[in-house]
Amino acid sequence: MSRTALVYTPKFGDYDLGPSHPLKPSRVIRTYELIRACGFLEGPSVSLEQPSAADEDLLALAHSRDYIAAVRAPSEGRILPRPFDYGLGTIDNPIVDGMYQAAALVAGASVRAAELVADGAAEIAFNPGGGLHHAHRERASGFCVFNDSVIAIEHLLEKCGDGAKIAYVDIDAHHGDGVQEAFYDRRDVLTVSVHESGRYLFPTTGSVEESGEGEGEGFSVNLPLSPYTGDDVYLWAFKEAVTPILEAFSPDFVLAQLGVDTHYQDPLTHLCCTTQGYVMVVEEIAAQAERWIAVGGGGYDVTVVPRAWTLAFARMAGVEPPENVPDSEAEHYRRDDSPVPLHDVGGPKIDEDWLRVTREFAEASVSDVKQRIFKCHGLAEDDA
Ligand SMILES: [Zn+2]
Repeated sequence: MSRTALVYTPKFGDYDLGPSHPLKPSRVIRTYELIRACGFLEGPSVSLEQPSAADEDLLALAHSRDYIAAVRAPSEGRILPRPFDYGLGTIDNPIVDGMYQAAALVAGASVRAAELVADGAAEIAFNPGGGLHHAHRERASGFCVFNDSVIAIEHLLEKCGDGAKIAYVDIDAHHGDGVQEAFYDRRDVLTVSVHESGRYLFPTTGSVEESGEGEGEGFSVNLPLSPYTGDDVYLWAFKEAVTPILEAFSPDFVLAQLGVDTHYQDPLTHLCCTTQGYVMVVEEIAAQAERWIAVGGGGYDVTVVPRAWTLAFARMAGVEPPENVPDSEAEHYRRDDSPVPLHDVGGPKIDEDWLRVTREFAEASVSDVKQRIFKCHGLAEDDA
């Protein structure tokens, strides 16, 4: 059996929202090429899997038929009379040729990853093209058209039958609003989002008070952080607030959204993490379930994202990453002739004042999570 699967097709390059759009398909293509160049696909316990597009019934696990038809209309040469009603035709989500097919393929890849893990063909499956967590039931948002995570989770629940529990853990710098919304009143799916506070960043939601409703109270977890939060504070907050909840929930599967726009070089956000901290968070998530699915997500510095996702994949495959980016890929990262380390070298300098601000902000969020959420999982507020 293959322990780890990478779900990939060069057709992920078709999810292209235009030359000036920050969501560049090269993020995903370069990730695949770097994983391959590192030799990670050659081991007997790693497999490369081809996805196929999600059909309309799969898409309907997360979206209304009306919305699905709206996304498809331009691909069929039909004019969509009121695209803004569906979040389409905006700067973030422009209408581009082949959008329906490209978005359905990304969703199909997350479904494939879920099936591989559910069927026991893999213990861990990674779809670097996925993680489009802002897509809503009837509306595109934040570069996201179809919510592949929601579709994959619903499909996994269908396959595994009643009683299966799934934890969705989202470490993208932005709040995972679309996924939270889909499961807000349910307790079979725990959603966790750790993100830069919505006070400073799109989509503005994701406060601790958004904790689920009805039967789902306590099963939507948000951990907002201050701008300039670095590795140490981030990891402390994650271990203090998120890990105990995941351990108490004890999921059958974890679906992790591994957006890496938390990185200090990211042009769209203000967090200050490094690849070292990022991999440690991935390890913390990996410790929560033997069988898990990983999807990509945000991350807008194309010299960072492939390195971070390759390092994450090395962890998934249980292999030691090389110190440097292999020569065949180095031209995409290097500024001069010197070797390019796979991990960051150095990192941001966060001055004492900001360190204090970020620590106090994280302490307040952690305390709020403990007060509001811990009791719903049989945890005492002083558990950690
Ligand atoms: Zn993001």
